[in-house]
Amino acid sequence: MDLLNNSSSEWLDWRWQYRNRLRRPEHLAGLAGGNSNLVDEWRRVAQSYPFAITPYYASLMDPTDRDDPIRLQCLPDIRELADIHTGQDDPLEEDRHTPVPGLIRRYPDRCLALGTNRCAVYCRHCNRKRFWKQGSRRFSRAYFQGMIDHVAQNPALREVIVSGGDPLLLPEATLDWFLGSMKAIPHVEVLRVGSRIPAVMPMRINKKLVGVLKKYRPLWFNTQFNHPREITPEAARACDLLLTAGIPVSNQAVLLKGVNDDPETLRELFYSLQRNSVRPYYLFSCDPVKGVDHFRVDIRKGMEMMEQLWPRVSGLCLPRFVLDAPGERGKITLQSFSL
Ligand SMILES: *Cc1c(COP(=O)(O)O)cnc(C)c1O
Ligand code: SF4
Repeated sequence: MDLLNNSSSEWLDWRWQYRNRLRRPEHLAGLAGGNSNLVDEWRRVAQSYPFAITPYYASLMDPTDRDDPIRLQCLPDIRELADIHTGQDDPLEEDRHTPVPGLIRRYPDRCLALGTNRCAVYCRHCNRKRFWKQGSRRFSRAYFQGMIDHVAQNPALREVIVSGGDPLLLPEATLDWFLGSMKAIPHVEVLRVGSRIPAVMPMRINKKLVGVLKKYRPLWFNTQFNHPREITPEAARACDLLLTAGIPVSNQAVLLKGVNDDPETLRELFYSLQRNSVRPYYLFSCDPVKGVDHFRVDIRKGMEMMEQLWPRVSGLCLPRFVLDAPGERGKITLQSFSL
């Protein structure tokens, strides 16, 4: 496939992007630079952690650069297997905080509802890699209804965050019904959608989808751009469609070694988000999840970088640097004090 042939109308069709994802090691042969060991490594990694890359996201890579920040986020890497026998699948104890299938509740006032376990691109640094093993399942109506009933029975829950996997892979009709059912619960005041689609398959954000989402305002949209090169004209257009429909867009980046762990890259990421009216909300320290250890950056280094940015960068572009702690302790702000 010619990855750079991106002028066709098919290219802008998200279903085409989804169907034509690079999913097998042989699809990536062009990126191995003639190194057949690399193709073997990808095959081995994929047995534990599958991969899928939209042609759009693949086109953002420099195919000749093995350290390319886009490549690092989407191509299998043998280092993912380093802790296969020792790492923790669920260090945040999400599974222990799952009162009904799919619903994670670690805080009194808000909960996460997992709409699907599928993603357009499988981010190598994902902290829910444990779900990939389940294969791509379609969840039943009863599964969604179980989450709706749980929220209805718990009046303290005022905010529901629909996440995944990537919830925007659900058909519009399912999203419409699910968001509508949650919104109809009297104590649910606010909805949130968490999706990486604007970064990895922005053509999914079309008028029809936005038409569904905007019915359920106030609805916040949180996405994940990790590198300024992900903010392409297509991605900017996707964010603009949401924003002009009255849906605020915020960004939850993850601090990733080799991708964005230097102050210049972070500053450009935050500036670029702000130019597109996207609010930098969180910068996550990468969780100690099995298979992502090679992305983890020393917390002290992260704090130092953020401290360097404070006086130099507009407050509107500075996210909170946070560490997600197990269970109900939740997100802890990483910030030192100086008087
Ligand atoms: C991160 C998270 C939330 C949202 O937390 P905010 O700080 O409001 O963004 C909600 N539920 C779970 C389980 C989470 O992990
Ligand atoms: S889109 Fe989100 S859930 Fe899916 S692989 Fe990426 S980080 Fe994980």
